[in-house]
Amino acid sequence: MPRFDQHCKTCEWVGTIITDPFSHPPCPSCGGATERIYLGGYMVVGDDIPGGRWVENLDTKPVYVESKSQLKREMEVRGLTESVRHVGVPGSDKSPHTTRHV
Ligand SMILES: [Zn+2]
Repeated sequence: MPRFDQHCKTCEWVGTIITDPFSHPPCPSCGGATERIYLGGYMVVGDDIPGGRWVENLDTKPVYVESKSQLKREMEVRGLTESVRHVGVPGSDKSPHTTRHV
């Protein structure tokens, strides 16, 4: 079964659940209702994705995209909104975009 990113409307839990795309599994944290989202968890420079990229969690089968704008269209036809998540620098849990001084 494919994996889908899910967002819990009750407790804001976000994660990936292995499920069929037409069901709405309960939130593993609180049991509330979830909705499908897409987590943009990779970095692309410019619009083109060199060599294209298989995106696993858009549909029942992986979708092949060659540019960010195509990915956006593929998400739109499926009613998905992108949830941007900053990816930390490898080897560290810090991101240059989300530095927080405690
Ligand atoms: Zn929840």
